[in-house]
Amino acid sequence: MEVKLVKPCGYCLGVTQAMKIAEKAKKSYPDKKVYLLGLLFHNEDAVKELSSLGLIVLDERKKGLKESLLEIEEGSVVVFSAHGHPEEYNEIAKDHGLIQIDATCCHVQENLEYARENQDYGIIYVGAKGHLEAEAFRANLPCCFYDVKSNELLGELPKGDEPLIVSQTTLSYEEVSRAFMAIRSLKPNARLGKERCLATSSRQNALKKAIEEGVDGVFVIGSSLSSNTKKLRDIALSYHLPTFMALNEDELRSLDIPEMKKAAVVSGASTDIATALRCASYLKGLFL
Ligand code: SF4
Repeated sequence: MEVKLVKPCGYCLGVTQAMKIAEKAKKSYPDKKVYLLGLLFHNEDAVKELSSLGLIVLDERKKGLKESLLEIEEGSVVVFSAHGHPEEYNEIAKDHGLIQIDATCCHVQENLEYARENQDYGIIYVGAKGHLEAEAFRANLPCCFYDVKSNELLGELPKGDEPLIVSQTTLSYEEVSRAFMAIRSLKPNARLGKERCLATSSRQNALKKAIEEGVDGVFVIGSSLSSNTKKLRDIALSYHLPTFMALNEDELRSLDIPEMKKAAVVSGASTDIATALRCASYLKGLFL
């Protein structure tokens, strides 16, 4: 099969940094328990790799993060995830005598600081309810919230005429546009804030270009927990193309793939390059 590997591919900056920070935390404190508060980023294979190094993962799907944080033994190390965290967690960690290490992505942090600087205009945050990044933002800066899952505005609109719209870093152009139009119908002078992270939009745009140049199907490599990876799948589906999603080569091999001549392989920002290349190489060997 002819395979077009969509670029960029490989870990984004925030994920690369979070991985390094977590590994360094274990090396720096070899005699202490090192906890990751929540999946450091959304990739089950990477989290397994970190567990194999001795890091203890507190999975947000099993227990609330605050509850997990309260249960960590005094003197341990806690690593906060790339998605950001409520700032009250720093106080809790301090009170519990924990050593704190922050792996929040710089773009996520910039988004929050930018919103704080413009707080006087009123902030409307566009994000997915329940996503760690969105929930951390709302905890740190209570504001009106536009949920892209339900397309609903939650909370009171800011009083000012020109509120600033700040969006979660992993949303698609379509989601932000839809939210913008809905907000503008209520606040005609609302302004859309700067896009902080190009890691996800550049992949989305490159995938659209690859599809428009002509492919018979799309393979999305990454975790079904990853918001930006799921967006890539949604984009492929919006073109009504056969679309397959797999975390890694093993999952890909287990799929029943129909014969096709040319396919695009795209990977999420939390998928490592080696996995994406292995998947592309496997697909190239099909239907020869
Ligand atoms: S997708 Fe962007 S904002 Fe999210 S972790 Fe990666 S670089 Fe940071």
